[in-house]
Amino acid sequence: MSECGNVQLPASNIQHRTAEDVAHLYVHIPFCARICPYCAFYKERADSSQTQRFCEALLREVDEVRSRFAIKPETIFIGGGTPTALTTGQLQFLLDGFRDRLDLSALREWTVEANPGSVSPRKAALLRELGVNRISLGVQSWDDDLLKLLGREHDAAQAEASFHLLHDAGFTNLSIDLMFGLPGQTLAQWETALEKTIALRPEHISTYCLTYEEDTEFFARQARGEFREDTDSDARFLESAMRMLEDAGFEHYEISNYAREGYASVHNRGYWAGHDYLGIGPSAFSTVGMQRWQNVPDYRIYSDRVLAGSSAIGSTEALTVQIKRAERIALSLRTKAGIPCAELQQWPNETREFVGLDLLGEINGSFVLTRNGKLLADSVAEAFV
Ligand code: SF4
Repeated sequence: MSECGNVQLPASNIQHRTAEDVAHLYVHIPFCARICPYCAFYKERADSSQTQRFCEALLREVDEVRSRFAIKPETIFIGGGTPTALTTGQLQFLLDGFRDRLDLSALREWTVEANPGSVSPRKAALLRELGVNRISLGVQSWDDDLLKLLGREHDAAQAEASFHLLHDAGFTNLSIDLMFGLPGQTLAQWETALEKTIALRPEHISTYCLTYEEDTEFFARQARGEFREDTDSDARFLESAMRMLEDAGFEHYEISNYAREGYASVHNRGYWAGHDYLGIGPSAFSTVGMQRWQNVPDYRIYSDRVLAGSSAIGSTEALTVQIKRAERIALSLRTKAGIPCAELQQWPNETREFVGLDLLGEINGSFVLTRNGKLLADSVAEAFV
């Protein structure tokens, strides 16, 4: 990666690629009502004097990338940060702006991430009315003490009310995010959280293991010995999730993701399959062909640049065939479909060993992680880099 910090790179450095339309768009809204102590994403406390200007910059960037790429989105994912931290008026401005600028005739999935603390009936109705058809709700836990530890602004009752509110607004594709491996969280608490989630009958559930990321408060607390990683316990949490969610009719289609039939995320599957995608907004990554770039991870600099007609790109990376292949293997191995055996033929000893250890199985010409393999997915993927 050629890290360029705040050095400005001309957008024209990134070549056009017109053979195919880019079908996946990610939009980063960096604002959060509160900063969670474990979070390593680029985010900032919302500054109401800046947010409208920021929304204008996002639409200007859409205009800019449209001038360089043929875009016909099949999926749009508005994430963050907390997109619902924007006001109803700002969300309307933004979504209307996307609708005016983009050909949405092929759009299959339009997801917005929402936090229970910032969903209102008006916002939910507006999102639905403007074409959003999937909401990813950041519940994380149904235990108020754990939510406090995570620094979340909502409590369990609010999260449940938000889920029903979204359902009542007409959303028929709702995803709930949950976290496990939290300090002090017991297996019983986790299983209760899964039961509670199953009872709500969402179409999709994502479960993420807490990781201690550098430059976060949790990382510092772990370094001081206040928190401790426990991979054996994490494996038990994952095992419970796999068992309970599959028993409840969810397909475990990727290590962290479970869906009812027909509700696997189209956007994420495109990303895991290595399709091109464009990222709009500060810190957003884009990958088109053999080029990857990241916008500056600072929304003020981002807005200044874009509104002045300059490039938002902060760093670029020329991908190689080897990098692409390593990514494809790591991402595919995490999915239910696995990786075609032919892609791993240069590692006959490793694949034989993993099959012998019951970490990999062979299904329809592909290597697929077994249940045991899913517990060690990262280590298995590392062997093929
Ligand atoms: S709400 Fe999400 S993006 Fe914002 S600080 Fe918390 S975890 Fe990070």
